[in-house]
Order: sequence, then structure tokens, then C-alpha cells
Amino acid sequence: MMQFPKAGFVSNPTPSEPLRRLSETLDVDLWIKRDDLAGPSFGGNKTRQLDYYLGAAIAQDCDTILITGAVQSNFVRTAAALAAKLGMRTIVQLEARVPDQDPLYQRSGNVLLNQLLGAEVIYYSYGEDEAGADAALRVRAEQERAKGHRPYVIPLALGNPPLGALGYVDAANEIMDETPDYDVVVVASGSGLTHAGLLSGLLTRGFAGRVIGSCVRRDKVQQIARIRAVLDGLAALNTSLRHVSSGKVSIWDGALGPGYGKIGPAAYSAMTMVAQCEGLILDPVYTAKAFAAIPALVDSGTIRKGSKVLFVHTGGLAALFAYQTDLTQLLNSA
Ligand SMILES: *Cc1c(COP(=O)(O)O)cnc(C)c1O
Repeated sequence: MMQFPKAGFVSNPTPSEPLRRLSETLDVDLWIKRDDLAGPSFGGNKTRQLDYYLGAAIAQDCDTILITGAVQSNFVRTAAALAAKLGMRTIVQLEARVPDQDPLYQRSGNVLLNQLLGAEVIYYSYGEDEAGADAALRVRAEQERAKGHRPYVIPLALGNPPLGALGYVDAANEIMDETPDYDVVVVASGSGLTHAGLLSGLLTRGFAGRVIGSCVRRDKVQQIARIRAVLDGLAALNTSLRHVSSGKVSIWDGALGPGYGKIGPAAYSAMTMVAQCEGLILDPVYTAKAFAAIPALVDSGTIRKGSKVLFVHTGGLAALFAYQTDLTQLLNSA
């Protein structure tokens, strides 16, 4: 699709590996797709998404990337890394989205990396106003343009073409080329670009299993509506994708509590289980909550024992040390 140029950062296909000890523990045939290894600076799903945004920025001869996200956003950090490699500037806007965080959250993890990567960091004081955050970014972009720069804005709110979701149509193609016979694919569902792209791409290729999105920010009712909206935007962008009927959108929100960016018991248990059975690290914000769906849904019978299950590791590892205080407390009280 030359219509959508890519910057070419994704080391695809990313590896798929069996998780033998967890398979035994959970009574399913469990595999992991290592999108945490997708590219530079801790990889993750944002590498695939940004491949398209930065592809567009290159095609439009831009020199400055503007992007918005939570304080510990992996999206903005990955943008800063990939833009650096392209010789572009990055202006990162951090939204106050997670209340009551300790100083490490404000300074460590992705915040530290933004600085290290040379991004300019600005702040937006609301965490629940995506359209407002985008508008603030566009104001700044116009100031950059007035100074002679060529800005490219990566928007967050619904209603913008979900270019990043194309990156997960690519991931779906990798899965179908390699192992099309999974019964269930489990992935984190936040902005929805990853979940919707994967779902749409898999169904277009005739995938017969289920894709389950695990909520990290909004509850099930809100997230179903969001995924439908992203799917509509994606279908408008790429008309060769198959229509996804409502019945195909599966959402689980059992690990969402106590809210975005906060570690609950299900997420904590997923982190220790995966670390101690497989030596693999999950991040507390996204992949821990996504993985938690697997034991819970095997318990409830929604995922049948013996099924072949793929967990998509979407990265996020750079945020881990920003959660050191909470994690240490949980580990010490266990
Ligand atoms: C952003 C993010 C997600 C969620 O992906 P969306 O495309 O926003 O739904 C999942 N995992 C990690 C590590 C992320 O950084």
C-alpha cells in the first residue's frame, strides 16, 4: 500500500515463542508474540503504529514531530526515539492523567528517556480531554510553522484517521503467515488502535478464532464503543479490510481496577506469575492487565482448557521503574 508509506522501523516479523511453564500452569497452549522487541528504545506496539505516522511525516518532508500522551506514555517516548533516528525534533506533551503519583512516576521511566532522547517536554494539565490535548498540540505546531519549521502532529482523539492501526493489520498478517490456528488472541485495549487493527487484519485473512481486548483505561461499555469507532475509521482508511460485525468485538475489563496507570491485584498477580514462570517482564500499565485476562477467562470457562492462545506483548517496559515504589510495597507485603 504505497498510499501509506512506512518509515521502516519494525523488525518484523517479531518472534512468537511458546510459554511452556505457563501453559502447564494455566492448562492452555500459550504463546507470546514479542512486540516488546519490535524496534529501538524498548520496542512495543507504538513502534508499529509510529511506523505509519513517521512514514507520513517523511513523505510530507516534516522536521518536527508533535505528540501527546500520559506522563509515562510509551507512545511519546517511542516517537522521540524514532524521530531522533530520522534526525527530526520531537515535542512531547505530557498530560496529567494519573492522580496521586510519587516523584519517581514524574521523573523516571519514560520521562527520563524523553530527556535522554532529546525531546522537548511540555505539559497539559488535564488527563481526560483528548480533543483538548490535540488542540493544544496544534496551537504549538502553528507556532513552530511560524518559526520556519515543518511540524507533523500525531493526534490522539477519535475522529482522526487511525493510521497507527495499520501497524496492527501488519502484525495480523505476520500471525496469519506463521500460525493461523490460534483459538484466542489476547491483547491490551487502550486507544484501540492495536486491538482494532489486529481484529480487522485477522478477520480479513479469515482468522477463525477470537480476539479478546483487555481494558486498561476505560470500562467494557466505553471500550466497545471506542473499538467500533476505530474500526469505522480504519475501514474508511483501507477499504480492502473486511467489515467487522459487532459480535466479533470481545472486551474484558476484569483487571481495569483501580483505574488507568494503577496496579490492581489481577495485574500484580499477572506480573509475578509471568516473571517467575517464564523470566519475562510485563509492564504494570498495559501488558499486566492484558495478561490477567488469560487466567481469569480460563477459570470462567470462556477460554477452554487446551486452547491455543496467543498473548501479544505490546511492550511498555520502560515504565516499570517509574512504578518501583508501588511494586516494592506489593512485593514486600506478599
Ligand atoms: C499504548 C499501549 C497499549 C495500548 O495500545 P492502544 O493501541 O493504545 O490500544 C498497550 N501496551 C502498551 C505497552 C502500550 O504502550
